Amino acid sequence: MDNRKFCLDLTGKDIEKWCLDKGYPKFRAGQIHKWLSSGVIKTEEMTNIPQAMRDELEKDFSFGSMNVIHEFVSQIDGTVKLVYSLWDGNIIESVVMRYKTGLSICISSQAGCKMGCTFCASAHAGFGRSLTAGEMLGQVLLSQRHMNEKIRSVVVMGIGEPFDNFDNLLGFIGMLTDPEGPGLGARHITVSTCGLIPRIKEFTALKSQVNLAISLHAPNDELRKELMPVPAHYALRDLMDACREYTKVTGRRITFEYSLFDEVNDTIACADQLQKLLKGMNCHVNLIAANEFDGSPYKRCRKKRIEVFRNALEQRGINATLRREMGSDIMAACGQLRRGIEQGDKGK
Ligand code: SF4
Repeated sequence: MDNRKFCLDLTGKDIEKWCLDKGYPKFRAGQIHKWLSSGVIKTEEMTNIPQAMRDELEKDFSFGSMNVIHEFVSQIDGTVKLVYSLWDGNIIESVVMRYKTGLSICISSQAGCKMGCTFCASAHAGFGRSLTAGEMLGQVLLSQRHMNEKIRSVVVMGIGEPFDNFDNLLGFIGMLTDPEGPGLGARHITVSTCGLIPRIKEFTALKSQVNLAISLHAPNDELRKELMPVPAHYALRDLMDACREYTKVTGRRITFEYSLFDEVNDTIACADQLQKLLKGMNCHVNLIAANEFDGSPYKRCRKKRIEVFRNALEQRGINATLRREMGSDIMAACGQLRRGIEQGDKGK
């Protein structure tokens, strides 16, 4: 067991305090923070820091304990999946996608997930633990270094439920947007929750510029309970109230993620129910042609049905787009690869 704090969990202020407590000049803190913010987490690479100071840092904090252990590159669209090992043997993953606007990363917030969604590979793989703020930040900084290119946007939509790890999530956002650190604009960050209402309310009260997305996937409570048993403890009516409140208080549009499963949630009756649910809300629906995985009880939605459903939403005044599928050959969907690796399958 390593009791030392992971180096990326240190804020600029923490490093400064450590330096002053140890009698080092303040500028050393700036140098260390700069190394860490560029994804350098091994002291031997911090070439402008004296060896004695590096030794002291190593004594007090954990360096180099997060590593990229696998890289999978899609032959179809260049999407890159990175798999990391953590100090305690947990494995997490993130996916880097290239858009016209530059690189975007989808990161994990937990090793595994407790929410038990029946269509999700992460839920089937079980729950390890929540990630620290630094381990979330590490996915962005290490992948940026790995890709040798700046990450332009971050989506917290990988393995785990970010609002089940709320304090660390906020810590992560604070560090990622720190102008003295990576300095990413809050509007370039999106957090996706399965709908934990108390946390949505707390998030609303922050009036953050960070984008909010809700994993909806079902237009009625009965179907939601089948697809998302834990999040469905909250009634959809209450969830929609919380979402409306969010759009009212922040003046921002909210996104609903809706994964389509063949003949499950892609019917015209579902489109009708969605229309009622979202009526008058400043929102957008992201349709996802969900991937199947071994043991999944649902089938991938057929192309024709997706088109019919999307048109039905448009006709009902709902702004909906079909999310471009990325990295389908490298199991890029949430949790698929972690599960594969834990089962001894090292991917394709
Ligand atoms: S869909 Fe999201 S919330 Fe549901 S089990 Fe998977 S990772 Fe967790």
